Amino acid sequence: GKKAAAELREELKKEVSELKTKYNKVPGLTVILIGDMAPSQIYVRNKEKSANEVGLKSEVIKYPEAVEEKTVLDKIEELNNDETVSGILVQLPLPKHIDKQKVIETITPSKDVDGFHPINQGLLMQGLPGFIPATPYGIVLLLQHFKIETTGKEAVVIGRSNIVGRPMSILLSQPGPAGNCTVTLCHSKTQNLNEHIRRADIVVAALGQPEFVKADMIKPGAVVIDVGITRVDNPSKKSGFELKGDVDFSNVSPLCSWITPVPGGAGPMTIAALLQNTLLACVRRNN
Ligand code: NDP
Repeated sequence: GKKAAAELREELKKEVSELKTKYNKVPGLTVILIGDMAPSQIYVRNKEKSANEVGLKSEVIKYPEAVEEKTVLDKIEELNNDETVSGILVQLPLPKHIDKQKVIETITPSKDVDGFHPINQGLLMQGLPGFIPATPYGIVLLLQHFKIETTGKEAVVIGRSNIVGRPMSILLSQPGPAGNCTVTLCHSKTQNLNEHIRRADIVVAALGQPEFVKADMIKPGAVVIDVGITRVDNPSKKSGFELKGDVDFSNVSPLCSWITPVPGGAGPMTIAALLQNTLLACVRRNN
């Protein structure tokens, strides 16, 4: 993930610089961060750092936890109408008093670089150009980067959220590169989950349960993409915690043909895909 994301950022850097030289355009990413949850702050900092690295203009607008919903919605409207802003992202999760769906639907679909707006999700469903949510998009780019054959394979996606699992299942089942799979989408009500996973040539684990996927669930030679990131207490670490994926990496990895680690797998690809979406948003606005 780290290696593929670094290469993708290099390509993006060239494209951003070309856009600037030829058309005097600099894509701009604006992130809204509400509250002071440590993981969200780290994600936003990483997004900002990577955006700056490829030459995008990036801005972070911070609000305290108690900010009124209207203040946030008004700011989004303002950004929708700001020609210097190509992409808008509101870092999730949001405080309880703010309606997530309302926030998502206020972002104009042409600037929705997270791909969470129902219009972009509908376009994705139909295989039409829109914005693909960054995590599943990053995984598609990762599979393509390493030329991993997906056609005709059995894929099992664990988790059906609108931001990871469900769009992932759609992408893997669509015709085209990193697609053409026969997909099973599993969730907390799935019966015989282990049997589904054991059948899979490609497993995408996005359930948020640390080390849930064990070696005895994996078919030898499978490709395993671990999306989960959970902070687990570990007093021996300076920070007091460590990050765990949804896959028991040390026992599962010897069985796999490919596997992504946590951290350093799907995470960096998610950020690279977000930058790719921001560049795309800028190019589309100016075409
Ligand atoms: P959600 O909590 O929205 O969704 C979790 C999904 O997993 C749900 O569909 C749930 O089923 C399913 N699930 C939970 N427990 C089980 C179980 N025991 N067996 C089968 N299915 C189960 O999470 P997200 O999709 O937002 O994120 C998933 C993980 O990925 C999290 O750890 C998150 O931190 C991480 N993540 C990582 C990103 C990255 O950049 N690498 C980006 C985004 C997320 P049900 O619908 O029935 O409740």
